[in-house]
Amino acid sequence: MSKIYFYIGSADLMITTGDPPHRCHVRATFDVCRWIDETRQEAETDGSFIATFVVTEDGALWIADRRSEHVQCARGGNILSAGEMAFAVDRGTVRVAEVSNQSTGYCPEGESWEAVDSVLSKTGMDYPPGFTNTFTFRRCPRCKTTNIVKENSFVCGYCGNDLPTVWNFS
Ligand SMILES: [Zn+2]
Repeated sequence: MSKIYFYIGSADLMITTGDPPHRCHVRATFDVCRWIDETRQEAETDGSFIATFVVTEDGALWIADRRSEHVQCARGGNILSAGEMAFAVDRGTVRVAEVSNQSTGYCPEGESWEAVDSVLSKTGMDYPPGFTNTFTFRRCPRCKTTNIVKENSFVCGYCGNDLPTVWNFS
C-alpha cells in the first residue's frame, strides 16, 4: 500500500477560474509523444522535455506543462507521488531521463518512488531506478513554513527553529 498525500499548499492555487490546465494521462510512450505535439512543448537545451507529474490516488500517471501546479494536474485530488519528469525522445522512443519528487503542494517523501515505479513499469518506457533528485520536505513547527531540507541541515530557513527529523505534514 502506497501512502496517500493530501494537498497542503495554498488554497488559492486550488481555485481554477475557467478551464483547468490541460493534462495528459500517460499509459504508454505514445501518450507522451502526443502530449509533446498537442501542447507544442519546447525542448530543453539537451533535447529533453520536462513535465509536471502526479500519480493520482487510483495509481494513474498524469503529466502537464511544467508551469502547472501539481494540485491542478491532480484536479484537486490526493496523490501517491508528484514532482517533475524529464523525457528524452529519440526517433519515436521515449525514455524517462530524470524524475524528482519536487512538489511543495504535496511534499511527497522519497518512499513515494514505489508508486512512480509501479506506474512507469506498465508504460514500456525505460526509467531510472529511483528519483534522480530526491527532496526532503519539513514543516517548521514554529512558523509553519514548508522547508526543503538542504545538506541534512534540519533548521528552518525562515525563523531558524529546528525542524523535525521525520516527515510532519500529516
Ligand atoms: Zn520557521
